[in-house]
Amino acid sequence: MKKRMILVISALCLGAVLSGCRHIMPFEEDLTTSGTTSSNTGIVFKSRPRDSEEMSGNAVAEDFAQEEKSAESSAAEEKETVDETLQQAQRLAAMYDYDGALELLKGQAENAEYADAIAEIEESKASCTAWTPEQVTHVFYHTLIKDPALAFDGDSDTAGYNQVMTTIEEFQKITQSMYEKGFVMVTLEDMAVKDENGNMVPGEIMLPPGKQPFVLSQDDVSYYHYMDGDGMASRLVVDENGQVKAEYVEADGSVSVGDYDMVPLIDAFVEEHPDFSYRGAKGILALTGYEGVLGYRTDGVYQTRQELDELQCAYLDSHLDFNWDEEVAKATEVAEAMKKNGWAFASHTWGHINVGESSLERLKTDTEKWLTYVAPIVGGSNKIIFAFGADLAGAENYSGEKFDYLKSQGFDYYCNVDSSRLWVQLAPNYLRMGRRNLDGYRMYYNPELVEDLFDAKAVFDKARPTPVPEM
Ligand SMILES: [Zn+2]
Repeated sequence: MKKRMILVISALCLGAVLSGCRHIMPFEEDLTTSGTTSSNTGIVFKSRPRDSEEMSGNAVAEDFAQEEKSAESSAAEEKETVDETLQQAQRLAAMYDYDGALELLKGQAENAEYADAIAEIEESKASCTAWTPEQVTHVFYHTLIKDPALAFDGDSDTAGYNQVMTTIEEFQKITQSMYEKGFVMVTLEDMAVKDENGNMVPGEIMLPPGKQPFVLSQDDVSYYHYMDGDGMASRLVVDENGQVKAEYVEADGSVSVGDYDMVPLIDAFVEEHPDFSYRGAKGILALTGYEGVLGYRTDGVYQTRQELDELQCAYLDSHLDFNWDEEVAKATEVAEAMKKNGWAFASHTWGHINVGESSLERLKTDTEKWLTYVAPIVGGSNKIIFAFGADLAGAENYSGEKFDYLKSQGFDYYCNVDSSRLWVQLAPNYLRMGRRNLDGYRMYYNPELVEDLFDAKAVFDKARPTPVPEM
């Protein structure tokens, strides 16, 4: 029962943090492919064997026709290459990577289509203005609710879900509204980076008129045991196309794979609307470790089977083929696919602890567990999004032994929860950012606080029991 309390509390967390390893442009592989296509053009003739001496008139005519056909198909291939390159350049430009787009078209200005595209891209680039870190807002969610009837079924978790969670229907409406208002996802690194002396300095955010930057994050993407059967996804998986999707266990026990949580929903949205992402940026997932990550039971207790709580025991009892190494390998595969796709990871503390109330010793023990069981899966992180929306200090700059310790463990980006539209503190040794919870509680009690993002009354899911319980 005690553990149950902890689990319920963790669902109520209002945390915060950011991400990091996006700067991988998802187009590199495509470029290689198009290069291969163009170098294949021209090899077509040479590879075809012919015997010119014994060729009959018919054969010559046939051969000629075939050559003409080959020339046609080679011209078609060339056209295809031009189209592909243009499309890639236009997609890069749509994501505000104008230099990347121009680099692709470089040296091709004699091609009229390229010349037009280059002029257009240069015009867009010239229209951009710079955004400072202090002008960036940050919104966050928890695991999204796929089936409100199950989440709000009146059991003991209903109140918590109603307060701090968001349904997929609401999430889609909010995302569409933010897109229409010109919001563009950026990373924490776009806001601030470490210079060669190790000091945090403003990064670069250049956007055209009508666009404004924001950071997106999602907390507790563990698919905790207590959420089983409550209408939410059960884990993230990589599908046969290398895309990250969510698994959902249906009422009859069968498993569906689809866009059942934020990661695949945002991936699909950016696929359709590349201008929602700044140079490939996606969101940051803030992960605890005590029940594993991303729906995989990767914590040490599942391996040692020591100090298991009731739900963990029940899980292992019903998964007799459980293999800890396989869980870690699968979680790592998902994390790697996500990073390739622009996503980043942050610590949410291993045990969902309140860093403000915890002793330095507890913070150290907890961080060591995160570094042991979570960091290797996500490739480490320099970001911490505090659980419960807690923080190390008030508005004054960070100092003291807890901050010194976290900084010594590599954390440069720190996030809390704050309902202000803008709350950013760029110090020489860290970036701190407040995050806004877009959940049932906020929409029901403070619709005015999200007016810049969406109309809460239009978004609020009618499947929610009202009033949303007070905190
Ligand atoms: Zn949390």
